[in-house]
Amino acid sequence: MRSAAARSVNIVGAGLAGALLALLLARRGLQVMLFERRPDPRQSAPERGRSINLALAARGMRALECAGVMARVRELIIPMRGRMVHEPGGALALQPYGQRAHEVIWSVGRADLNRVLIEEAARHAGVSVRFNQLCLAADVPGGKLRLRNQAGGESYEVALAPTIATDGAGSAVRASLLEAGLVSVREDWLDHDYKELTVPAAAAAPLDRNALHVWPRGGFMLIALPNTDGSFTATLFLARTGPRSFAALSTPQAVTEFFAREFADAVPLLPDLPAQFFAHPQGQLGTVHTAPWHVGGEVLLLGDAAHAIVPFHGQGMNAAFEDCVVLDQLSAQHADWQQLFAGVESARRPNTAAIARMAVENYTEMRDTVLDAGFVRRKALAMSLERRFPDRVIPRYSMSMFHPEIPYAEALHRGELQAQLLAELDPGAGAEPDPALAARLVNERLPPL
Ligand SMILES: Cc1cc2nc3c(=O)[nH]c(=O)nc-3n(C[C@H](O)[C@H](O)[C@H](O)COP(=O)(O)OP(=O)(O)OC[C@H]3O[C@@H](n4cnc5c(N)ncnc54)[C@H](O)[C@@H]3O)c2cc1C
Repeated sequence: MRSAAARSVNIVGAGLAGALLALLLARRGLQVMLFERRPDPRQSAPERGRSINLALAARGMRALECAGVMARVRELIIPMRGRMVHEPGGALALQPYGQRAHEVIWSVGRADLNRVLIEEAARHAGVSVRFNQLCLAADVPGGKLRLRNQAGGESYEVALAPTIATDGAGSAVRASLLEAGLVSVREDWLDHDYKELTVPAAAAAPLDRNALHVWPRGGFMLIALPNTDGSFTATLFLARTGPRSFAALSTPQAVTEFFAREFADAVPLLPDLPAQFFAHPQGQLGTVHTAPWHVGGEVLLLGDAAHAIVPFHGQGMNAAFEDCVVLDQLSAQHADWQQLFAGVESARRPNTAAIARMAVENYTEMRDTVLDAGFVRRKALAMSLERRFPDRVIPRYSMSMFHPEIPYAEALHRGELQAQLLAELDPGAGAEPDPALAARLVNERLPPL
C-alpha cells in the first residue's frame, strides 16, 4: 500500500483473525480502525457458547510468530502429542499425531488467546479498537459501513473503503453483500450439532493432559482438550434428530443413561452432567463457501466470514491466521487495495476449499475409522514410508498440521495419491508390505516435495 490515502483500513470483528490482522497491518505502518460488537474482553467475562479451547498447529503458530506474539501465547498452550482413543470396552490407545518431537498440536483457550491478541493490537499506536460496535452492513453503492453503538444505541456510518470483514461465520458484512447481489454464498450445514461440557480439574486426574481424548462411537463422538487450569473441555458431536441424537436426549435420565452406555469411563469426569447438559447451548456446524471474497478494493471477507469450516481438522483458526499472513505479505507487493484483495483471494481460495473438504472427511475418521484395524495399519505404514522417503512421503494429516510450507491444496492432492498407494501396499493383517514395491511406487508416483 504505497499511497498515503490508502494507508488506513477498517477491520470488522476483533476475534482471532481480526485482532491478529490489525496487529500485522499496524506493524506495516497502516492506521487500523477495529470494530467489535462485544465489550472489551480485558474488562469483562468472555462470551459463552463457542469452543472454549482450540487446537493450535504450525500454520497458526507461524502467523503468531510473524506478528511477534508467540512468546506471550506460549504461556497459554498445552502440547497434545496424539489422539487418546477411548474404546467402547474402556481400553485406551494413543495414536501419535506425528513421529518427531515437535510434531504435536497445542490446546489453547479461545478467550485467553483473543485477549492477548487484542492487548497486543490495542497497544500499537496504529490500531484504534472500538468495542460494543455492532456492524450492521456494508453499503457498497453508498460507500458506507453501517454500525450501531451497543452502549448508546445510536446508528452511524463511516467511509467503507477499504474494509476487511473478519466478523466470523455469521458475518453481517457477508450477509449484506449477499443481499446486494455482490457475492454468492453456499452454506452446507451438518446434520450433527455439538455441545460443550466442562470436566472440572478435581475430576480430570484420569485423563492424560498431553493428549486430545476421543471417544469414537461410529455415528457420533465425544472429545476432550486440556485447559491450563487443570480442567478439560469436552465436546459431544451428535446427530440433531433420530434415535441417537440431541433430540432424543430430552430428559436428565436419557442423558445419564446415554453417557453410561456410550462413554462409561467419561461419566466420573462429569459429576454434574445432566445440569451442565441442559445449561449449555447446542451449537450448529457447517461450511461456508463464498465467491468472490471481495468487492473491488472496497470490501474483503477473510477468516470464517469467507470460509467457515467444520472443526474436525482443528484448522479453522489456523487457516484464518494463515489468511492474515498472506494478506500482510502481499500488502508489500500491491499498489492498491483492489489488487491486494484480488491477490489474497486467488492465493487463498483453493487452499481454504481444500481444508474445508479435509475437515469434513476428518469427522468420519475421528468418530469412526480410528477404531478400524486397517486404518491403524495404514497410518503406521504411512509413517514408516515417511521415515524411508522423507522428501516424498508425509502423511496427509501431518502436511496440514505440521508443514505450513505445504499449501492445503497440495496436501489434499498428495494425500489422495498417497491414500491410493497405501491401499495398494497394505498387505492386510499380520503381513509385511513389500519394500521393493513400496520404493518403486513412491518414486514413480510421488515427486519430491
Ligand atoms: C466447536 C468448534 C471447535 C473449533 N475448534 C477449532 C480448533 O481446534 N482449531 C482451529 O484452528 N479452529 C477451530 N475452530 C474454528 C475457529 O473457531 C474459527 O475458525 C476461528 O474462530 C475463526 O476466526 P475469525 O476471526 O474468522 O472468526 P471469530 O473468531 O468468530 O471472530 C469473529 C469476531 O467478530 C465479531 N463480530 C461478529 N459479528 C459482528 C458484527 N456484526 N459487528 C462487529 N463485530 C462482530 C465477534 O464478536 C468476534 O469477535 C472451532 C470452531 C468450533 C465452532
